[in-house]
Amino acid sequence: MTELTGARLRSRGSLSDLLRVGPTVDLTEIDPRSTPGLPKKKDPKAWARERLASIGADLARYQEKLYANAKATGDPRRLLLVLQAMDCGGKDGTIKKVAGAMNPLGLHIVGFGPPTEEERAHDFLWRIRRALPEAGQVGVFNRSHYEDVLVARVDSLVPERTWQSRYWQINGFERELVNGGYTIVKVMLHISYQEQRERLLERLTDPTKYWKYNPGDVDARARWTDYQAAYNDALSRCTTDYAPWHVVPADRKWYRDWAVANIVRDALAGMDLSYPKADFDIAAERRRLEADRVPR
Ligand code: AMP
Ligand code: MG
Repeated sequence: MTELTGARLRSRGSLSDLLRVGPTVDLTEIDPRSTPGLPKKKDPKAWARERLASIGADLARYQEKLYANAKATGDPRRLLLVLQAMDCGGKDGTIKKVAGAMNPLGLHIVGFGPPTEEERAHDFLWRIRRALPEAGQVGVFNRSHYEDVLVARVDSLVPERTWQSRYWQINGFERELVNGGYTIVKVMLHISYQEQRERLLERLTDPTKYWKYNPGDVDARARWTDYQAAYNDALSRCTTDYAPWHVVPADRKWYRDWAVANIVRDALAGMDLSYPKADFDIAAERRRLEADRVPR
């Protein structure tokens, strides 16, 4: 993926269009340090950080309209942001920066770890269905049902025929959600092997980060190539017109946050949200309040 100037980006459409994957994904072709779509600026980092604040205000406004419609009119629509990445890919940081701009009341954030015994006793989508956002909410998945075609495949947690059948099950599941009023935004944060090493080392250097370090991450890191292949397949097979995948180069945190915020804003803008109309007589209600006296 090449660097694009602001002008070229505009001619190609939104940042979402630019970062949306094609039918055959090869992550080796996407430079994790690149900053596609970022306008040329003297200090791009400062610029992106500043822009993030104003995009955040847009996100908050859209989210409020979404929430208000569900409350006022029973509008079933909702947004689901699915975040996937290798360890240290920046999922937590992105949630802090992007979801952090929104009202906690309208957010539903769920992280997925190894399935519990109860979860393992059910179909892989069982725990996902239970974690879905309600109407009017913005749901965020920190890892997701995609782990069931990533770690499950790389670590052979299930037989091949089982994970192979999951791609179409996922597509069917997401189709069902979209038909039910979901807007699904799927983002893979793409970091480099070198950057992951830096970030893991940082976790070992800073005592306030020990808690984030998991020795198992180094085992997963040893399977990097297998993971990238599993990601290529998951992204290629499960990118659909109704729930497309995006790859965000994520070695530079400021670009990552700016890009994800843009993608989410594009999705909310596409929902054509407005504040619900009053379903009462505004003038009559005002008269009642204006005439009102302290009860004795
Ligand atoms: P973290 O995101 O750092 O809290 O780590 C969560 C861990 O849970 C990662 O190592 C994932 O690979 C693992 N995990 C998440 N979903 C699954 C799953 N469906 N099957 C097995 N492991 C999973
Ligand atoms: Mg971890």
